[in-house]
Amino acid sequence: MTERLHRQDPYLLDFEATVVAVREHEGRPAVVLDRTAFYAESGGQPWDTGSLGDAAVVAVVEDGDHVLHVVDRPLAPGPVRGRVDRARRRDHMQQHHGQHLLSKAFVEVAQAETIAFHLGGEVTTIDLDRLVTEEQAHAAEDRANEVVREARPVRVEVLTAAQARATGVEPPEGVSDDIRVVDAEGFDRQPCGGTHPRTTAEVGAIVLTGLERYKGGSRASFVCGDRARAAFGRQRGVLEQLVSILSAPVAELPEATRKLKDSLAESERRERGLLERALEGEARRLLSESSAGPGGSSGPTVVTAAYDGWTPGDLRVLALRLVALAPCVALLGSRAEKAHLVFAQSDGLPHDIPTLLRGALELLGGRGGGRGNVAQGGGDRPERLDEALSRAAEAVRARS
Ligand SMILES: [Zn+2]
Repeated sequence: MTERLHRQDPYLLDFEATVVAVREHEGRPAVVLDRTAFYAESGGQPWDTGSLGDAAVVAVVEDGDHVLHVVDRPLAPGPVRGRVDRARRRDHMQQHHGQHLLSKAFVEVAQAETIAFHLGGEVTTIDLDRLVTEEQAHAAEDRANEVVREARPVRVEVLTAAQARATGVEPPEGVSDDIRVVDAEGFDRQPCGGTHPRTTAEVGAIVLTGLERYKGGSRASFVCGDRARAAFGRQRGVLEQLVSILSAPVAELPEATRKLKDSLAESERRERGLLERALEGEARRLLSESSAGPGGSSGPTVVTAAYDGWTPGDLRVLALRLVALAPCVALLGSRAEKAHLVFAQSDGLPHDIPTLLRGALELLGGRGGGRGNVAQGGGDRPERLDEALSRAAEAVRARS
């Protein structure tokens, strides 16, 4: 059985021990020590990292009565010096003890019990057994921070089940002896095997970052201590960028963003109007040029046109406008990185537009489709666009 030094003293980070067994864990070397200050993942608190001799400790897991230290290189049996990563341990103590305080505050404020706890890499969450309002959540946050400010002593007691019950703590199921009770003086008592600070003040600050509905109750996200400062620093960085982009002080960012959105919507509306008028004008210009063109046949007008960089959407609007304005066959193309084609004919004209398109697309090395009077597609050889359009025009004239 591994002696858990962190249970007596969570501030002990540098210790001497003996490697008593060499194992493997999921393909990586692992060792068992006679005593350890490394916390193994359990109860929602992640494991400690650090070093054993020259080896880095990459994971620490419970294995029955033992603690398995997963290391990045093999270690021989014998004495070894262990060092626990201080920043990670302090971070976990701040988040974990902050969770104790916030959970108790939710009980006081909203009779909401915590049914799950997850200490994540960025934020920590607790799941509450009932819905709580934003106001209740902020009241719980205020209450928990008050307890932090009061710097109440935090003590760990090891009790029997009967002793625990006598002091108002329900022991965890199936545990009858050696129950660790973490007591934040005069505020909260609960059974817990995690690492806790000496006083509530070490939590530093508890900042709620989110509240959402979750499985019939609520999920509250929060950060404590140094994480709260780091999160504030990250958000300040984002705000500074927005201040620079929008040329507005922080307090005016919402208004500046609303104005920008409104002005963008207005620009888009105007752009759509202008585009419609431009396409209408283009359609009339093409029709007048085509009907005045050589040949002067009495058949339907064939309109061909190629553009640089037009979108398939704009080509399609133009094609539909053309076939609505006068009886005609519209053969339109656009070249950019790829070639796009839109073919259309007015109602009542006899051409097989999808087949015509497929023929043209063969030249462009592409595919496309459509039904009835409109078809569109694209290909990878924009340099053959003019050829594809003139061949299609010949095919239409040959049938007229
Ligand atoms: Zn705890």
